Amino acid sequence: MSLFRPLISILLVFISVLVVSCGDGSQAKAPTYSATKLAQIQATNKNVIALSDRLPELATLIENRDWNNVKSFIHGPLGDIRTRMSGLSRELLPGTKEKALAIGKEIFVHLNKIDEAAGSNDYKVAIRNYGEALKDFASFEKLIPQAS
Ligand code: ZN
Repeated sequence: MSLFRPLISILLVFISVLVVSCGDGSQAKAPTYSATKLAQIQATNKNVIALSDRLPELATLIENRDWNNVKSFIHGPLGDIRTRMSGLSRELLPGTKEKALAIGKEIFVHLNKIDEAAGSNDYKVAIRNYGEALKDFASFEKLIPQAS
């Protein structure tokens, strides 16, 4: 009987270590993207980048104070950008998703301000919001997971 006791306590230590490490394992397991999801996100991101790649064209139009074409460009080629960005944002993990949606909204606000500035010949407001939109795009792209 006296030999048994220490054995049982060792066994109990083993069991508690096992329980603790199992518990830790499930807690530490952060949500991740599946391979399928990742591929889908990459594909959708290409559609967003296809539009953001055209932003320098908008800068040229602003520089030339070509206000009619600034407006056409925002409503035409860039018209889809908000929808594409929020669609992509919704594919992201909780936490990242909210950040991405907020940045998408901000970019929309900047584009609207450029649109307004175009209506009132306000070069300063237009170019400043253009710069802001570019910065926001860079932050947005940092939230997109890269293919492994
Ligand atoms: Zn901004």
